[in-house]
Amino acid sequence: MTDTDQSVPGSASAKRASSSVAAEAKRRRTFAVISHPDAGKSTLTEALALHAQVIAEAGAVHGKSGRKSTVSDWMEMEKARGISVSSTALQFTYIPPDDDAECVINLVDTPGHADFSEDTYRVLTAVDCAVMLIDSAKGLEPQTLKLFQVCKHRGIPVITVMNKWDRPGRTVLELLDEVSERIGLLPTPLYLPVGIAGDFKGLLRRGKDGEPADYIKFTRTAGGATIAPEEYLSAEAALSIEGEDWEAAAEESELLSATGQDHYQETFLAGETSPVIFTSAMLNFGVRQLLQALVELAPPPRSRQNVEGEPRDVTDPFSAVVFKVQAGMDSAHRDRIAFMRIVSGEFERGMVVTHAQTGRPFATKYAQTMFGRDRSTVDTAYPGDVVGLVNATALAPGHTLFSGPAVEYPPIPSFAPEHFAVLRATSAGKYKQFRKAIEQLDSEGVVQVLRNDLRGDASPVLAAVGPMQFEVVTARMRAEFNVETQLDRLPYALARRTDAESATELGRQRGVEVFLRTDGVLLALVSDKWRLQFIQKEHPDLTLEPLVATA
Ligand code: GDP
Repeated sequence: MTDTDQSVPGSASAKRASSSVAAEAKRRRTFAVISHPDAGKSTLTEALALHAQVIAEAGAVHGKSGRKSTVSDWMEMEKARGISVSSTALQFTYIPPDDDAECVINLVDTPGHADFSEDTYRVLTAVDCAVMLIDSAKGLEPQTLKLFQVCKHRGIPVITVMNKWDRPGRTVLELLDEVSERIGLLPTPLYLPVGIAGDFKGLLRRGKDGEPADYIKFTRTAGGATIAPEEYLSAEAALSIEGEDWEAAAEESELLSATGQDHYQETFLAGETSPVIFTSAMLNFGVRQLLQALVELAPPPRSRQNVEGEPRDVTDPFSAVVFKVQAGMDSAHRDRIAFMRIVSGEFERGMVVTHAQTGRPFATKYAQTMFGRDRSTVDTAYPGDVVGLVNATALAPGHTLFSGPAVEYPPIPSFAPEHFAVLRATSAGKYKQFRKAIEQLDSEGVVQVLRNDLRGDASPVLAAVGPMQFEVVTARMRAEFNVETQLDRLPYALARRTDAESATELGRQRGVEVFLRTDGVLLALVSDKWRLQFIQKEHPDLTLEPLVATA
């Protein structure tokens, strides 16, 4: 398609292009895995890739399981800790067995470390679905809960995976009850495990009204390094082979139906119910069933509303949202990559698009897909795909790129910070660089920057969702701006949105300080939740609203 064709709406070629974009969007699924460290995200990612044909991959995903080597560390700090600070996307194709329609799956990676950053949350603004991965022995863990809150806030449908069923753990019903009681999401298993936790034999596929449809019997392979052979058996055959284990699963299925826990597509898409699959990522059990669920149930990319609330359809001309910016990934040539999720239209490398925030043209000559350190050039991409733009200095999370009719999408919300610190340049002579660096890191969304008159500009307060964001700031200050800094933690634990009317009175309270964030929001930092409760009781008229809640 040439530029001339594109500019003639209604022409035959424009119609052809739009129907091919519609088809490309329809076969895409873009999702992220939300989990607590060690639940098996890396192992599951490897297992998914094993079942599919990887298009763009980093040679391997994180190598914690020891099967492959780690690839995604980008700073010394990260290497020393052996964790991944950044997140990117893995793309693969999958052909469902009963269908010849090939699907394209985009798995957007979330940092897996206990230490959170805003990046983790921003990733969830780029996906259409989330897989909530739970360690069956441990149940719901804190980080999973926090990430789930973001999914809920954004209305992202969630598929639940109970992993490590090959290890002794809890019962099916205990795990399901925990999900419904603690997070108010009604679990509706698609499959139930045959054999208790620690004795994973296969999966009972639930049919209409919980009737067992069939039995998928798995066979272990050495170390789970290859796809586990599957045998499909009838319910009768399953009963004769597995006896009591089958009966137990069939009974559970019936019980669940009695309490209305059957999959229903509308409530799933509305974020009220969650289809559940039991897996062993390590043995590759249930992994294909998860892929199948993603293809059959997860929503494809859909239209997105612009700042005025008007939708831009997937078949409209190209537009994308930047959801993450990563700098200094490669110390050899210090670059800055902005990751965008395509919202509408066809992206072709080399096309010149418009950066909505500045109105300036942006050349996409160096577009890449990447996962970890390996990069490959991307030539075309469609709604749902994630593309990295190299040396994208002006781009920040939440920014819009488009071609054709102008569009701007709503900004990504800043998440509630829980860590606060004052930053100063240790040498007074470096003040200019220091200011420039703060401005730069603030615009990239590395950390939130807060100011008030009392503290002045020379010592801004940094607010972070996870303390590692501070380390990124000091490391980049040194490496890129040649400024040594000193960071002093502040004894505040939470932030609330306030307004000008309440600010003066709040400033008089013990354990409270009021700041202006760069986006114009007034934030009251409070020492702890008891102090907050006390103030709310004593001064019920003061504005103290929660920010985008993640805790
Ligand atoms: P992540 O931190 O969520 O990425 O977790 P990993 O994928 O690194 O897994 C953490 C540990 O759990 C590793 O030792 C894995 O081998 C192990 N593991 C992952 N999935 C399974 C599983 O299904 N069964 C068992 N038994 N172990 C698993």
